[in-house]
Amino acid sequence: MSDSARPSRIGVLAVQGAVREHVNAIREIGADAVEVRLPRDLVDLDALILPGGESTAMRKLIDAYGLREPIAALGRAGAPMLGTCAGMILLAERNADGEDPVFGMLDIEVRRNAYGRQLDSFEADLEVPVLGHEPLHGVFIRAPVVTHVGPRTEVLARDPDGQPVAVRTGSVLATAFHPELTGDRRMHRLLAQMISEGVERTA
Ligand code: GLN
Repeated sequence: MSDSARPSRIGVLAVQGAVREHVNAIREIGADAVEVRLPRDLVDLDALILPGGESTAMRKLIDAYGLREPIAALGRAGAPMLGTCAGMILLAERNADGEDPVFGMLDIEVRRNAYGRQLDSFEADLEVPVLGHEPLHGVFIRAPVVTHVGPRTEVLARDPDGQPVAVRTGSVLATAFHPELTGDRRMHRLLAQMISEGVERTA
C-alpha cells in the first residue's frame, strides 16, 4: 500500500480497450500509472483500473495472460478498483444474460449493450453527490445497464431515467460511462482518495 513518501501507483489493465486515456488521467492527478499486461505488472500496485473496451475480448486475454487470479487476489487484499463500462462488466458478480462472472467483486447484475440501439452512444450530465455539487459529464458508449443492485452496493449516480450508472461495493468502484474521456478528473481522484482511506484504516 502507498505511504506518504511516494506517489500512489495505479495500474490500468492494458490487454485491450481505452488504456491511454486512463493512463493520462492517472498522471494528471499526480499518481504513477502502470500498464498491466502480465501478472508481474501488478506487483506493488495501490489500485487498478479496468478500462472500457470489449469485455468478451478482454475476458479471453485476461485468461490468456494468467491475470484472472492475481487481479482477484489484489481485490481481495483491499486494493481499490475502478471499472469503466466493459470494466464494470468484468467486475460484476452477476450477468443478466447468464455469462460467467470474471472477477465477481461488485454486488450488482449487469446486462451488456442494454441501452438499446437508438441510445448506442449518448452523453448526460450526472449528479454524483460524493463528487460534490457540480454535475459530472457522462459519456456512454454501448454501455451496460445495471439491472440489479445488491445490498452491499451504494449507488453513486443515476442516469436521467433513474438507472444506476456509478456504483461502489466496498473498495470496488464502477461506472457504466467513461470518466476518462472528459477533462474532469474527480472519479480518478475518488479512486486515489480510496487508497489513502484504506491506508488510514489499516494504519
Ligand atoms: N459493449 C461493450 C461490452 O459489452 C462495452 C463497451 C465499452 O466498454 N465502451 O463489452
